[in-house]
Amino acid sequence: MSYNRVVLKFGGSSVATVERIRNVAGRIKGDYVDKGYEVAVVVSAMGKTTDNLIELARKTSSVSDGREIDQLLVTGEQQSAALLALALKDLGLKAKSFNGSQAGFIAYGHHTEGRITDVNPKRVEEWLSEGGVAVVTGFQGINELGDFMTLGRGGSDLSAVALAVALDGEFCHIYTDVDGIYTADPKVASGAIKLSSVSYEECIEMAALGAKVLQARSVEFASLYKMPIYVSSSIVDGEGTWVREEGIKEGLVIKAVVHDKNVAKIAVLGVPDVPGIAAGLFSRLAERGIGVEMIIQSVMRGDVNDIAFLVKETLLGDAIEVCSEYAREIDAQGVTYDSEVGRVSIIGVGLSVHPDIPAQMFSVLSREGINIDMISSTSNSITCVISSTSVDKAVSSLHKHFMEGEV
Ligand code: ADP
Ligand code: ASP
Ligand code: MG
Repeated sequence: MSYNRVVLKFGGSSVATVERIRNVAGRIKGDYVDKGYEVAVVVSAMGKTTDNLIELARKTSSVSDGREIDQLLVTGEQQSAALLALALKDLGLKAKSFNGSQAGFIAYGHHTEGRITDVNPKRVEEWLSEGGVAVVTGFQGINELGDFMTLGRGGSDLSAVALAVALDGEFCHIYTDVDGIYTADPKVASGAIKLSSVSYEECIEMAALGAKVLQARSVEFASLYKMPIYVSSSIVDGEGTWVREEGIKEGLVIKAVVHDKNVAKIAVLGVPDVPGIAAGLFSRLAERGIGVEMIIQSVMRGDVNDIAFLVKETLLGDAIEVCSEYAREIDAQGVTYDSEVGRVSIIGVGLSVHPDIPAQMFSVLSREGINIDMISSTSNSITCVISSTSVDKAVSSLHKHFMEGEV
């Protein structure tokens, strides 16, 4: 095992301009190379490049073809990787960029939502052992046909953690535009407090419920292989946040308030209450690669019930198509949807043993005049679906109540 090897990752905002790419090169040199580390760096596409490429495809054609979208999207990370390698060379370092195929990322599954099956970074390892800095494109791998696959939005975090595991790195340092993980999105809650560390369990819950500072799948992967992650700013100096295993602690409990505005609600109404109906609906959605969350089946009304759930807003069109077709086949009463919703959650390991917390959460929302559309809870979180326009207010009020001691 090498204890002097690290994998660094720089997100889109950190490499958004030529100046920032040059700044990143300086950081890699100062923070790690000059201290004797072997360094592999994973990069995202510059700024909003991925969004812009998706928009370009949408304007060019009405056909949504995952394979072609993936061939297009991978070019974003290839630009930033090559530019960063050039900037590192400018500082006198040995540097080389590698795309997902060259770096040995093997993926499978649906285009645009590929999953990593293996990472064989042979060329990267060789380059590191020759004293070079390896710059690897995030967000991409190749499938069994040799075609590029992307790994879901925010997927460079996953690439970085997977590479850190494959290279047996000491830890994975994720540089971003905030200086750590906070008790709420610091862009939304002005009183948000920086956490010095969070457990994998808490961080998975935070990421899964919308805290976009780390992609949820990357934290799950890190937890599986016990790879520590350190999150800090690429712009300002200072202590960041560790994500790693933590000892069991008793006491309170609420670690963060997180939100997600990029979800949409869909409901299939008047579904016949017979075995196999839910299995059929969710199999159809799965076949189309549509992930669902917060599935709620209402109590029976006569011999029918309703099934409601959330999907990513970008997948709403596909979900409506699948649900409408299925509703016709099973003779359900119809399909409704709402894209103007968001969710707000409070997170804390062991929260379910505190019986007063749900009531406190709902009281805060009601005091703000916010109507709750759906509620769900796990042992580590409570989530309310509310209108998207109320999300910021809900986050601030819940944060003030639970984290800043305001009653
Ligand atoms: P990158 O481009 O580096 O991948 P992202 O935009 O994906 O960066 O993630 C960083 C953003 O995550 C921050 O700018 C911040 O607004 C947001 N964020 C949401 N929740 C949190 C949180 N709890 N702590 C820190 N940042 C958060
Ligand atoms: N560029 C990709 C995205 O915008 C991957 C990433 O930034 O992590 O989703
Ligand atoms: Mg990100």
